[in-house]
Amino acid sequence: MSRRKPPAGAVTKAPDGLPSAMIENWEWQDHAACRDVNPELFFSAESERGMRKHAREVLAKSLCGTCPVRLKCREHALLVGETYGVWGGTTEEEREPALHGRHR
Ligand code: SF4
Repeated sequence: MSRRKPPAGAVTKAPDGLPSAMIENWEWQDHAACRDVNPELFFSAESERGMRKHAREVLAKSLCGTCPVRLKCREHALLVGETYGVWGGTTEEEREPALHGRHR
């Protein structure tokens, strides 16, 4: 899933603590198991709740389980504080404690 890959030659300066937009920082996405998958598998619709959300997350996480860049993806999500979606086999609820803890 190439959700945020910047174009080649994109701006390379990033705020402190965030990865730069240099292309090498995003190359891991080229190896993502989800690169040709509809991003809706990884992000809930506004009205999605309960079993429907859980079922979608299980499917997304099963694909993450096959992904060669799963750890890099999870690391990215934690580094930039991704608060929505499944990243690196984790849901937003599963990442929340780590994200919350880093702001203390
Ligand atoms: S770990 Fe999951 S969300 Fe991340 S790149 Fe791989 S398949 Fe996509």
